[in-house]
Amino acid sequence: MMRRGKALLEGSRQGSVDGGSGVSDKELVHKCHSDPGGGRALGAAPRTVRHRSASGAARKCVLTLDGYSYVIVASPPGGAGAPREEAPRPPPPPAPRNGTPKQGGLTIVRRSSSRHKSESCPTPTDEQLDQLSLDTDHLPAVDTPDACDKAALRLRYLLRQLNRGEISAETLQKNLQYAARVLEAVYIDETKRLADEDDELSEVQPDAVPPEVREWLASTFTRQLATAKRKSDEKPKFRSVAHAIRAGIFVDRIYRRVTSTALMQFPQDVVRVLKTLDEWSFDVFALFEAAAGAPLKYLGYELLNRYGMIHKFKVPPTILESFLSRIEEGYCKFNNPYHNNLHAADVAQTVHYMLCQTGLMNWLSDLEIFATLVAAVIHDFEHTGTTNNFHVMSGSDTALLYNDRAVLENHHISAAFRLIKDEECNILQNLSRDEFREFRTLVIDMVLATDMSFHFQQLKNMRSLLTLAEPTVDKSKAASLVLHCCDISHPAKRWDLHHRWTMSLLDEFFLQGDKERELGLPFSPLCDRNNTLVAESQIGFIEFIVEPSMGVCADMLECILGPLHSSSKTGASQEPISEDAPGKIANETSTKFKIRKPWVACLSDNKKIWKEQAAKDAEARAKAEEEANSPPAPAPTEE
Ligand code: AMP
Ligand code: ZN
Repeated sequence: MMRRGKALLEGSRQGSVDGGSGVSDKELVHKCHSDPGGGRALGAAPRTVRHRSASGAARKCVLTLDGYSYVIVASPPGGAGAPREEAPRPPPPPAPRNGTPKQGGLTIVRRSSSRHKSESCPTPTDEQLDQLSLDTDHLPAVDTPDACDKAALRLRYLLRQLNRGEISAETLQKNLQYAARVLEAVYIDETKRLADEDDELSEVQPDAVPPEVREWLASTFTRQLATAKRKSDEKPKFRSVAHAIRAGIFVDRIYRRVTSTALMQFPQDVVRVLKTLDEWSFDVFALFEAAAGAPLKYLGYELLNRYGMIHKFKVPPTILESFLSRIEEGYCKFNNPYHNNLHAADVAQTVHYMLCQTGLMNWLSDLEIFATLVAAVIHDFEHTGTTNNFHVMSGSDTALLYNDRAVLENHHISAAFRLIKDEECNILQNLSRDEFREFRTLVIDMVLATDMSFHFQQLKNMRSLLTLAEPTVDKSKAASLVLHCCDISHPAKRWDLHHRWTMSLLDEFFLQGDKERELGLPFSPLCDRNNTLVAESQIGFIEFIVEPSMGVCADMLECILGPLHSSSKTGASQEPISEDAPGKIANETSTKFKIRKPWVACLSDNKKIWKEQAAKDAEARAKAEEEANSPPAPAPTEE
């Protein structure tokens, strides 16, 4: 079913998967060239102008968005012009066997208002300063782009006046206070980075940014604006600027993704299926077909790459490939109908949906994202196709090893970390000691929390936390709840997917029932193939387990992401949803932040289908019973 290593890649081509937009390099280049005027109406596609610095080392791109120009500097791998990294890095890892990793950096170095001043002359002229009044009574609100410009101008003016000794203490104080308030209103993390960088706007010269970056810029910003529904004459809101700045985090991650992707080849069919990776009801079965039975390897690689983990944690691509192949093999060890590599891929994709479509990725650190993705990938590693209850009741070695507590979950984690100890599969080899410890703790917590016996406690704890006036949600607890929900999310997917999963799980349960019968053990629930009410069990599972879980998870996400959203819109495609009219874009100020919940409709549809099925099943049972109870028809009498 699953082939390992290079053999699988024969006849394939290098695949770089875009974010689902389908906008090609060529299209973007065309867009840039066909829009020489530079300006654009709000709500239209962003405009990029590509530049190369005089040295040829770092490449720059000016992206015009919402009336602002963003200078994005892309540095080549290890290039002299590489933008400054956030923290000192350990020495680079040894070159992987199949090539040297191409790793660069990408930084938004400057934002400037293209509506208010010329791109090439951001510093106010003496003339402009001479015209300035220091009156502080009629200044724009501090959280507007206008305020930024006004504050900057004032600071320049104050400096000049201080030099000349021509300023009163009161005027100085009032203006400094205003400038301080403007700065406080700016989203701290990202603007700090902007402020640290030099003004490089005037140095830029036309040339290219890497095509992959263009692809990303086009796909992400175009899609974003297509859903923004902003009126063309509306002034850009500060929030949208903060959002764009914040998206710089994603720019970094995606840039890293693209450079690393060069090292693993994706069959064309896999690339095609992965284009829908961001969808809630992603067809993981189609991926299985396209990937010749190895969906986890491609999906795992794509996700870790897409979030920039390969670059960030210096995971040698060949090591990652070996790790994922071995993990995939472990999932196939017992030929389980349900707990196999496909289920792992499904859960990992659903986790990805939660990370990127709700904006959760913006609340988590890189290490937390890395741990969450790896936890999803390994969460049922070497599953035996039997339940914890079966392990305990049959006194398996694993139950003995883990003293009947979270038997399978302990095994999944332990076996996965044992694999990571193997040099060939050590994806954590370039983590610092502290990073490794934190990563390990997070993965252990998350996978242990997939033990269904912890389900009600987990929900209860989160629910009561969320009733507090100012809840502080622990990152590990949040990620654990997300993983748990994704693990049981198939009843919340499109019917065809859910139905297929349910049939596979029941097959697995019935196989366990067969073993229980052989061993003289009582049947575990849902494991007796002759006595299981399938439709009813699914209705119960949806109503009592899945719906409440998704409900608490959504409440938690809205609680933790709300504050993030109020300072900047988060999530690549996130918009607040009006509470009173689902689907309608909410008025930002009047409506509580809401995430999209595609699962709500699916759950309701699926429940309805199961209810119809249950009614039919009940009818059929009644009929069969009636037939069984009715006296046998009299035998025909012989004449
Ligand atoms: P895991 O074993 O880690 O995949 O955890 C998910 C658990 O949820 C499964 O083992 C089942 O116990 C339960 N589950 C998932 N889908 C269904 C379903 N359709 N019906 C009943 N139980 C389910
Ligand atoms: Zn699972």
